[in-house]
Amino acid sequence: MRFIYIAIFLLAALVTNPNDAQSLSRSDITLSSNTMARGDVILVTVKSAREEKPRVTWMDKEISLVFNPAITSWQGFVAADLDQKEGVYPVLATMPSSGVKETFNIGVTDKDYGVRNLTLPKEKVELDAESLKRVEKEAAVVKALWTIPAATPEWRGSFLNPLDGEIVGTFGKRSVINKLERSPHTGVDVRGNTGDPVKAINNGKAVLVADHFFTGNSVYVDHGGGIISMYFHLDKILVRDGDTIEKGQTIGLAGATGRATGPHLHWGMRVNGARVNPLTLIDLSRGLEE
Ligand SMILES: [Zn+2]
Repeated sequence: MRFIYIAIFLLAALVTNPNDAQSLSRSDITLSSNTMARGDVILVTVKSAREEKPRVTWMDKEISLVFNPAITSWQGFVAADLDQKEGVYPVLATMPSSGVKETFNIGVTDKDYGVRNLTLPKEKVELDAESLKRVEKEAAVVKALWTIPAATPEWRGSFLNPLDGEIVGTFGKRSVINKLERSPHTGVDVRGNTGDPVKAINNGKAVLVADHFFTGNSVYVDHGGGIISMYFHLDKILVRDGDTIEKGQTIGLAGATGRATGPHLHWGMRVNGARVNPLTLIDLSRGLEE
């Protein structure tokens, strides 16, 4: 008799503890890794119904999530800036309707990305007063982009390569220009010929189209959800400020405008303001539902 009571009790416990959309347990959350180097990205997947969008925050910033119907999950990217200090930083996930919370730790490690030595014309490095003024003005325009509140995610599925070509400049390298330490390399350089079509890596909106001193003809695409891609040194720009951009759309032609040693595409990414390796984002996004 006692055995039957226990059996009924266990059965009742199972039935009244449904694994419905409102519950949240560790098994519902998958991180592509528990650790990453500074300048890297982690894919977070939360198993949950479309109607039950979880809230995920990291370093006091909300991680924008996109629903993936193929696996009934919400997915987004957690990004550590190139200058992020080593440490363990908690991710907080909350289900809005039930308020159920879970905390996960992500470790950020240091990484030696190497050094690049460049020799450039003196006037492109040691700026005269007029150029300096121009550079400062342009830097302020770009900086303003990082403080715009994240728009609704327009990106869907995997991110594309903007230009097929050999990577001739890797992400994160310290830059020694004419024997002096300068800002690190915050994107990747893809070899290309002048005139090669450069494609938008995902859907979005052109939020800045400009000809800048260092970056030449430049296009910044906001993919929503705090993800911005940038394409520099273009020979020609084929979009305008405010244009809606489709994934794979040719937004410009590769070139060597601005401070460039030859024709190539400099391609950079920001995720929630963090400067990250674009190649990691591409890798992690493979297989995401369109
Ligand atoms: Zn570059």
